[in-house]
Parts: sequence; structure tokens; C-alpha cells
Amino acid sequence: VKRVYRFGKDSQGVNVTEGAASMKGVLGGKGANLAEMANIGLPVPPGFTITCQTCMEYANAGNVWPDGALDEIRAYRVDLEERMGKKIGDASDPLLVSVRSGAPMSMPGMMDTVLNLGLNDESIQGLIAQTGNPRFAWDSYRRFIQMFSNVVIGLDGDLFENAIIAMKQRRGAASDTDLTAEDLAELVSEFKAIFSQNTSAADYPSLVVDGEVRFPQDPMVQLQLAIEAVFGSWNNPRATLYRQKNKIADDLGTAVNVQCMVFGNKGNTSATGVAFTRNPADGTKEFYGDYLVNAQGEDVVAGIRNTSPISELKHVEGLTEAGQELEDVFVLLENHFRDMMDIEFTIEQGKLWMLQTRAGKRTAASALKVAIDMQREGLISKEEAVCCVEPSQLDQLLHPQFDKNARYDVLARGLNASPGAAVGKVVFSAADAVEAAERGEKTVLVRWETTPDDLAGMIAAEGILTSHGGKTSHAAVIARGMGAPCVCGAEALRIDAEKKQATVVGTDVVLREGDIISLDGTTGIVVLGAVDLVQPELTGDLDTILEWADEFRTLGVRANADNPEDAQLSREFGAEGIGLDRTEHMFLGERKQIIQSFILNEDEETREKAIADLYAAQTGDFYGMFKAMDGLPVIVRLLDPPLHEFLESPRTLDVEIARMEASGADARAVAEKRALLAKIDSFVEANPMLGLRGCRLGIVYPILPVMQVRAIATAAARLKKEGLDPRPEIMIPLVSTVNELAKLREVAQRTIAEVVEAEGVELHLEIGTMIELPRAAVTADEIATQADFFSFGTNDLTQTTFGFSRDDVEGEFIPQYLTEKLLPYNPFATIDPGVAKLVKMGVDLGRQGNPDLTVGVCGEHGGDPDSIHAFHKIGLDYVSCSPYRVPVARLAAAQAAL
Ligand code: PEP
Ligand code: MG
Repeated sequence: VKRVYRFGKDSQGVNVTEGAASMKGVLGGKGANLAEMANIGLPVPPGFTITCQTCMEYANAGNVWPDGALDEIRAYRVDLEERMGKKIGDASDPLLVSVRSGAPMSMPGMMDTVLNLGLNDESIQGLIAQTGNPRFAWDSYRRFIQMFSNVVIGLDGDLFENAIIAMKQRRGAASDTDLTAEDLAELVSEFKAIFSQNTSAADYPSLVVDGEVRFPQDPMVQLQLAIEAVFGSWNNPRATLYRQKNKIADDLGTAVNVQCMVFGNKGNTSATGVAFTRNPADGTKEFYGDYLVNAQGEDVVAGIRNTSPISELKHVEGLTEAGQELEDVFVLLENHFRDMMDIEFTIEQGKLWMLQTRAGKRTAASALKVAIDMQREGLISKEEAVCCVEPSQLDQLLHPQFDKNARYDVLARGLNASPGAAVGKVVFSAADAVEAAERGEKTVLVRWETTPDDLAGMIAAEGILTSHGGKTSHAAVIARGMGAPCVCGAEALRIDAEKKQATVVGTDVVLREGDIISLDGTTGIVVLGAVDLVQPELTGDLDTILEWADEFRTLGVRANADNPEDAQLSREFGAEGIGLDRTEHMFLGERKQIIQSFILNEDEETREKAIADLYAAQTGDFYGMFKAMDGLPVIVRLLDPPLHEFLESPRTLDVEIARMEASGADARAVAEKRALLAKIDSFVEANPMLGLRGCRLGIVYPILPVMQVRAIATAAARLKKEGLDPRPEIMIPLVSTVNELAKLREVAQRTIAEVVEAEGVELHLEIGTMIELPRAAVTADEIATQADFFSFGTNDLTQTTFGFSRDDVEGEFIPQYLTEKLLPYNPFATIDPGVAKLVKMGVDLGRQGNPDLTVGVCGEHGGDPDSIHAFHKIGLDYVSCSPYRVPVARLAAAQAAL
């Protein structure tokens, strides 16, 4: 197998690249696109890429190199040296390289990088001679030792930062740039000593010289250790967490790119930056990004220095030509990749170099605008436009915003880095955000800047606020990717993370941990206290893409809703009907008392009164629902939960009784409570989810389905008389045998006939069932003879197929299952292949039993894009999901069809 691929030119200026953009699985995203850029003639510093497969082989063998791999790398190193006419580690004219990770899927900032590799005590002299700039050379060397120690050996970066601070104090220097070449040379000695003192000889026997660990001088040793570190970073905790959250497979591995260094820190005609070909926040067609003059790449992303906007670059003296060339490259890249691209570049003494390009991460609003604009520009087709918007991103657009009518004082302003608004308690560390989230508290994570180590906290927080860094800083990029609101670079904020407080310059406000703040990532505003939030309107772009999506999708999309407002909302979002109306949700509030009085009383009269009251209430409920969904199907599910869910909890009652007794309450009152408790206890089941619920309720208490069907039919009859077109359908839950369905179908039909008779209106109400038990799925051919439609309740079907309690597992063992990879993802969120098999069996058998059967799904999976792909393949007629997921489902269904 070939393990190494080169990219860039040879010594004659001829392109000798071996890879291409199509090879992401082998070369990683960065390596594949470096090759592609070289192939289309862009200035790429030469280098080579070690394949992702090599990383996995190395890792799977317990960090042992596959046979021949190191020889191949050595050969490519020599080849690179020949192409460049320089040698790594050379004492007169050294070649320096960067060693960077690059996985097949973009994982920004998650893995490791080493820069300036090849410097040692000899080659430093060569670098000084070549550049005539000792200060630059020593600064490069000390950066290399620092980065190598931190990334490769895992030493604490503070060890080095503290040495720099101490040096500055000794010299009375205000900033790093005030340190001279001699100072930096002295720092290099100190850094090497720190390295020796803190690196374990046992872990790195190869670095031991004369009984002491030494900073490696042999460039091949430096290179091998750096590559091993990048391989190892594939499995570091933050990369693992990122993959889990983004459903990226763990067995892809990362490639390693070894590339000639170019320097953006060689004076005022050098610069470095990151840019997007269009605005990643709102999609505007403009060059977007930041650059720093006289700096190295990491300085821009780390947010350590404040950057300037890319549009100014070509107006800076000494950088105008490179700045113009860069803009030409933007256009070329977009036309070539037919996408909005994200770019890293460096200008070394006036010469532009491209270090990376990839499809740019963007907000949902930007994704929509870019897709539509590019289709209109003729760059992509409508199908491609529909496919290049990530469905799960859409709910960003449904994020809350500050209420326009809310009054508030602005506490601070920053950059509008990622849209949406958040309200929460201030926390100053990622760990505190995670802890608060575990307590169910909403937080805003406030940091000077974020680093990849903050990822878990960024996920846990509602919003992110930083006092430093630009729109391409770590916080901004990650927040946009997650769809989390983010304000960054709010410079008035002076954060003391240790004391867990921040002051705000120009105010006397001191923010302490736990204080409530609000931030609006759409405008960059930060407010002390809670601002009222509202849901935004759908934008025109979203409508356009969804209309295009509707042209391609074959799956229908309905909504789960149980009140007229939600029904109306889902209709506005494009739902083609209600796939699940959970009627138990209509029994809350004061209705609860009525159903309690039905459950707890044996006296016939009281029960009949309760049923009559429920009937009246339900008729009104259904009237509202069917009216809101006039002309569209509304599947009403008969009562499903075990009855004890409507009753007080025995534990609360127990406590109450104990308290009454302790306070000497009236004996009769206590006895009454005890009787109630005994009655409630009689409804307690060991496994209520497997107990008296679903269709079993209707069989044990036939009065309940009669009441509900009568209410449904009556509401429909009334609307018909008003000239409307109500289309209710009746759904019987949790059926396991055809006999249950046949019995209840008969009850429903008889009841409908009575209403038709009484109201004098023709009604044709379909009657169907949920398939949410394995027995129902495997006998679906029989069940279908009694059903007009099936709706797969994949929540219960997942619960009963796995035997996992859906109400408990997510907090208990599923997290461990995910960590230990016993499951690839949570089966209650994305349909499991085993459960999907039952769905497919149910569909196929069902259609055998009744060729006219309509089949849909109404579990949570109906709104999950990956599951929607599976349902499309199985051939369902529609999916049904919560109103806010309807736009997501429409888009995912189109992508499944394309
Ligand atoms: C299901 O089980 O998938 C379903 C939709 O019903 P519920 O969630 O109400 O049990
Ligand atoms: Mg169910």
C-alpha cells in the first residue's frame, strides 16, 4: 500500500502532486484540498501527506508503526529536500516544516499541529544566516520548543509562558516584541532546560543523552515524534467528544501533512490570515475574514492579538499585490469547488501562499443564502442547492431572538459571531457550565477566549461570550458550527476567571458567577439580566429552499401536535397534516381532576358525569384542531398512558399523611387520605410501560374510546355542517394482536354510526393503528386487515425492541454505552438498524395484508435527518415530527430522495 503522497512543485517548478480533492478518505480534507489547489496552479508550499489509514494501523497496533512506513516517510522527506534544494536541520540553509493533522471530516482545532520543525542548535545558525534576522530565527526556535513540548510531550504551556513573563520582567519589556534576539536566545536555553526537567526519561528513552533527557536535535527524531503525536491526537478526549457529537466515525483516522514552512512573521511585508469567500454569518457575497501583519497563523485563530478585516489587506503598503492575488484566488476557488470556501493563507515577504482550503462552516442563514445565490449565479443546480444546506442546522433559524419590544440597557458590545439569543447564569469555566447543565441550569459561558479544551462547556452552555478574538476565533467558529449563540471580542469585559468575576470597563458592574445575563449573537449585544426572547419569523430564503425541497421529496411530512396553536404553527411550517395528536395532553390542568374523578370513583353517577364532562371538553378540543387543519388529515390517537400518570404520586401522598399526623390533624381527614392512597396504590404497576395502557385501556374501560370517538365524530360533523372539510382519523395505540384492533375498530365504527345518525351528516373516518410493539410488526399482515393506516411509534418500538426503558436509560447506561462504543449513537434519537428492520418488515407485511394501507412514523425519529433517510429507503408514505422539526424534515426528505 502507498502510505505517502506528495503535493506541490519540484525544483523545476513542475507540479508533481500525487493526490486530488476526491481522495479525502485517504489524505484527509486538508491533504486532499492542498493537492487539489496545487493541481489547479495555486501557490501551495510543497510537502507530503501521510494517509489516514496509516494512522489507524498505527493506533490499532498499539502505537506501533506498520512495516515500511517510516522508510517511506524518510524517502518522501528526502524527495522534499531535493525539490526544495534544502535539507531539514541543515546548518547553513535549513528547511523547516510544519506537521499538521487533517482528518477526512473537518474537526477544527481538535487535533495537533507542530510548526517550525527542523530547528536545532545548528540549523538555527543557518536560519540566521539566510534571513539575516537573528531575532526572527530565535523567536522561531523558542516557538518550536514550546509547541513541541506542549503538543508532542504534553508539557504544560504555562511552564514556558511563565519563563517569558519572567524574562520580560527582568528586561522591563512591555510586550513580547520588546524582547531582543539575545533575550530570545537565552529563552531558548531556558526552554531546553524546562524540557529536560519535565520530560520523563522512562517515557522517552530515545531522548536520553548522557543520563539526561535532551530536547531532540535529530530532525528525523523530531519529525517521527511529531507525526506520532498527531496520530495520537485522533483519540484525545476533545477529538473523541467532537466526533461523538457530530456523528463522525472513530475509525477514519487522521492524515498528517508535512509541509514546508512559510513565514508570516518576517516583517511588515509578511502577514497571515484566515478568510471565507463569502460571509459565513449571513451569506453576503463579500470577502470575509481577518489577517495579522507580521504574525504566525496560530496567532490569528487563537485570538491572542486583535486582527484587521481582510478587505483592508490589499490597501496595506507592501501587501497590495498579494492582497489582490488573494482576492483572485477566492474567486477561482469558488468556481472550482462550487462552494463557499474557508481559506488559510500566509504572505511571506510579499509572496502569497495557500495553506488550506475547505468548504466553509456557516450559519443556517448563511447556508441558505449562499445556496440560493449560487444557484442563481449558475454555479450549482437546484438539487445541489437543496443538498448543500444541513437540515439539522435549520433550527438555528428558529432560535429565539431578543423581543423587539423589550427594554434593556446594553452592558457591553462585541462581535456578532454566531446568531441567536441566550439567557443564562454567568459561568467562567467549561467545567462549571457542564456542572450547571447537569443541575438543569442554563448558563452563559464567559471566557477571555475559548480553546478546544472548552468544548464540553460550550456544548453545555446556552451561549458563549468572549472578551477577545475575532469572528474566526475558536469560539466563533465552534459556536457557529454548533448553532450556539456567541458574542466574541467584547473588549470592555475584564475577566478574572480565578475569582469568577468580571468587571465591565466604563461601568461599575461586577459580573459574578450565577448572575443572569442575556446575549444576542445576531447583533453582538450583551445585557445584564434576563431579556424577553421571541421566536423569529421564517425568512424568505428558508421558504425558497423548502419550496425547492418539496419539488424533490417523495416522503410526506406531518406534525405531532395536540392543540390548535401548534397545529397552526406546523401548518405554517409546511406540515401536510397531523400525524399524531396525543389526546392525553388534553387532560392536563383542570381536566386532570375530571379524569381523576373517573378513575378513582366506583359510583356510576360520578363516573358518568366525569365522562360527560370529558366528552364536552374533548369535542371542543377536536373542533379547534380540525378547524386549524381544515382539509388536511388529523390522526387522533386514543388515550395511551397508564392511568396512574393522571393521579397523585403515592410518595407525595405518603409524605403528606406523615406530615398531617405529626401536626395532629383531624383523624377523619387522615383516614380519607389513607383511603385515597390505597386506591392510588391499586393502580401502581411494576412495569407501567408494559402494563395497562394503550389499546388495553380501551378494552378494560370501553367507555373511554366510546367517549373519545364520539367527540371526534361530533366535532367533525359540526365542522362539516359549517361547510368545512375536517379529516380526522382514529388511531389505536400499542396494539399487539389483530384481535385487539378488531375489537376496538368495531367499537369505533359503531360509535361513528351513532353520531352519523344523530347529526345527520355523512362521515368517513379512517381507523388505523400504531405499530410500536415487535409482535405487531411481525404480524403486520394480519393487523393490516383491520387497519386503514399504520403509524410506527418508534419511541415505544425502540423501547420494546431493545428492552430499554425510554424514560430511564438516557441518564443511566446509554452515556456509558456510547463512550464504550457498545452503541454507535442513542437509538432513541436516531433509528437503530435493528428497529428499522422491524419497521421495514411491518411495512412490507402490512401492505401485503392491505394494499391500500397508508404508512407513516410518528416517534421522535420522524424529525431526525438520519432516520428520515432510513424511512425514505423503507418506503414510508410520510414522517411526523414536532412542529419546529417540520422544516428540517422537509429538507432531509428531499435530500434522501436526491
Ligand atoms: C411512540 O411510541 O413512538 C409514540 C409516538 O408514542 P408515544 O411517544 O406517545 O408513546
Ligand atoms: Mg408510543
